[in-house]
Amino acid sequence: MKRHAFSAAAFSGALLGAAMISTPAVAQEQFITIGTGGQTGVYYVVGQSVCRLVNRLEDADIKCNAPSTGGSVANINGIKSGELDMGVVQSDVQYQAYNGTGNFEGDAYEELRAVFRVHGEPLTLLARADAGIETLDDLEGKRVNIGNPGSGQRNTMEVVMDAKGWTEDTFSLASQLDRAEQAAALADNNIDAMVYVVGHPNGSIQEATTTVDSRLIPLNDEAIDGIVEEYPYYSKSVIPGGLYKGNPDDVETFGVAATFVTDTDTSEEVVYQTVKAIFDNFDRFKRLHPAFENLDPQEMVTAGLSAPLHEGAARYYREQGWIE
Ligand code: GLU
Repeated sequence: MKRHAFSAAAFSGALLGAAMISTPAVAQEQFITIGTGGQTGVYYVVGQSVCRLVNRLEDADIKCNAPSTGGSVANINGIKSGELDMGVVQSDVQYQAYNGTGNFEGDAYEELRAVFRVHGEPLTLLARADAGIETLDDLEGKRVNIGNPGSGQRNTMEVVMDAKGWTEDTFSLASQLDRAEQAAALADNNIDAMVYVVGHPNGSIQEATTTVDSRLIPLNDEAIDGIVEEYPYYSKSVIPGGLYKGNPDDVETFGVAATFVTDTDTSEEVVYQTVKAIFDNFDRFKRLHPAFENLDPQEMVTAGLSAPLHEGAARYYREQGWIE
């Protein structure tokens, strides 16, 4: 945590007093905390994977941890408050936070910095097969988990509800369960449908589809077309068929990208070492989750980012010839 970060070497140096002053510089131990999401999502794997590589660094003494958090919006707020140093956030949330739009209206976070883009995240609507839901409009009058406050799906679902002219009263129940709880709630028939903005395949949708007969619902009507046209950070996407039990066909929807961010308070060296740990070991990183399979480094550092690149990341990318 950056506000509480301390350098072990400097600390012991202070204790030992002047004797240390003439000692040659030693690698200073730094602590970083990366905000992720729920444990059955993909952000958690991104954070754990990054930390695994950072903790192996030989040239820098960085101790990295990546706890589970409420998701994108919670991660932005955590970086802003200094509780987190870096985090994974949806590209729409990155854009809105940096520019002060949407749920961040009037509160532009100008110190926010992009590091790289990761995997694609389609808005995923999963409904019980017995709920009578085949289209987005069928959600009216149903029990829908619109996502916990702080999550990216809650933020994106609010964009969809606005485009539809819906409020929470449109549903017979608008629950705010956490990602970890929603699959069980669907299986227990406490909700008819759940929403998750997430990479595929993931543990949450896997858990739901194996415990209850459930279907991925397409999101491809006019309201969705309007959203994709209006906002540069949304694009059409497809959840491939055959990833989940009972869902053999491709499903059309729209989505965002997961992105890795930090802010100007995080030092250039720490960010440089973090991206170096990942991209110097990129094959190893890609093997850590199937959602990382098609990642291409140059694309990851040039597309889908709305905040400026952090200087430490830009330094490494320039060295690689990926940016000018
Ligand atoms: N997109 C979700 C969010 O921002 C998290 C997805 C995940 O944990 O993989 O809250």
